[in-house]
Amino acid sequence: MNQQSPVIHFYKGENIPVELHKTRIVQKLFLVPIERRLEALREGGYNTFQLQTTDVFLDMLTDSGTNAMSDNQLAAMMQADDAYAGSQSFVRLQKAVEDILGKKYLLPVHQGRAAENVISRAFIKPGNIIPMNYHFTTVLAHIMENGGKIEELLCDDALEMKSSNPFKGNMDIQKLEACIQKNGVENITFIRMEASTNLIGGQPFSIKNLLEVRVICDKYGIMLVLDASLLGENAYLIKQREETFKENSIADIIKTMTGIADLVYFSARKLTSSRGGGICTNRKELYQKMEALIPLFEGFLTYGGISIREVEAMAVGMYETIDESMICQSPNFIKYFVETLDSKGIPVVTPPGVLGCHVDAMSFCSHIPQNEYPAGALAAAFYLISGVRGMERGTISSVRDEKGDEILADVELLRLAVPRRVFTLSQIKYAVDRMEWLYENRKLIGGLKFIYEPPVLRFFMGKLAPTSDWPLELMAKFRRDFGDSL
Ligand SMILES: *Cc1c(COP(=O)(O)O)cnc(C)c1O
Repeated sequence: MNQQSPVIHFYKGENIPVELHKTRIVQKLFLVPIERRLEALREGGYNTFQLQTTDVFLDMLTDSGTNAMSDNQLAAMMQADDAYAGSQSFVRLQKAVEDILGKKYLLPVHQGRAAENVISRAFIKPGNIIPMNYHFTTVLAHIMENGGKIEELLCDDALEMKSSNPFKGNMDIQKLEACIQKNGVENITFIRMEASTNLIGGQPFSIKNLLEVRVICDKYGIMLVLDASLLGENAYLIKQREETFKENSIADIIKTMTGIADLVYFSARKLTSSRGGGICTNRKELYQKMEALIPLFEGFLTYGGISIREVEAMAVGMYETIDESMICQSPNFIKYFVETLDSKGIPVVTPPGVLGCHVDAMSFCSHIPQNEYPAGALAAAFYLISGVRGMERGTISSVRDEKGDEILADVELLRLAVPRRVFTLSQIKYAVDRMEWLYENRKLIGGLKFIYEPPVLRFFMGKLAPTSDWPLELMAKFRRDFGDSL
């Protein structure tokens, strides 16, 4: 199982990532005509979260809960021990977490944000500051719910879309020291490092950087929390990009990373399987601070609000995370996706990260003002002309300030997620082809405005409308160029 990622060279022509798995269960996809896609957009308020899968061809919305499961995971689900308490399935999960993440104490939760809820409630007091490399939507919401504030301390060039910096997820250590000095160590709850920084394009941090953060934590006596939801792929990119760890196994790299943190939490929907999450630590006093919150918000301590079958799938998935031939699949497809678009002059985040291909909407739609949501508009336009569903990661995913003014996001991205072992290369090529057409016709894309805006996490449920008739014009141009093609 602990196989290395094989290097496959092609005799002639391009090197392409080859699938190291075969498909044995399939799910039918629907590619409906563009006229229906326009209706679907109208019904869904131009928000891709509001589309039905019967209207979606390639679902690149997210990698959350959408990675393909393995035969071994499905087999393990059959041996579930669904006792309310004392379940042996949970014992197997505990052992897997200890073997792979190196942490003895495990609290199961129903998904990643539930871990954020529990950690925030247990540790954050009103007025506290939480320094981090960068926020994720749900962690920001939970920190704010508990009266905390965040400080984002990425390196200066992390938000440059085109870059050769292999570790754009690194924290700037000088900024971290300055932040602690400014706010006072007593007001800092913990320092949070997010593996494969989701919102800036799935960009990894290095172990060197994590160790530097640890030195500061030790110097000031501050706890280090690792969001390990995208840990496996961050570890794979460390192996690819950090000289010191070139010869190490993914298992070693993962354990090194988790070993540096006091508290590790994860969304199992991304890390291991399709449901669940967890919080783990070797420090009993930290575990005890959170323990009582699990039965209150999640479920009993041996199932954490998810089905016991999923607990089994998590345990097997935990071991599969260290299989390099599996963990390399999504990053290698993403690399192909990003580099092909880049070679055609289409603005994408480089170097390629994890999770998906990220299109730079601020540049793609430079004619759309940021308060008309260029990334949301691009997500809607791309769905319209391709049936491919991506996700806006820009100002719509941001929040308003206390006065109700828009906080413009640092970056406007259309994320096209590439979950593990789900898509074929010809499907990626289809997405590339349609994106190339859209880029040539980008001036036809217009802005969006909110017509229904919920106060919290508005990007999930919000409804928008185009600021002009641009979707109709885009559809007309598609018909002229593609004839009766879907
Ligand atoms: C998805 C994600 C979460 C939240 O996990 P859910 O299971 O979707 O609640 C938290 N942190 C990061 C980095 C993520 O990518």
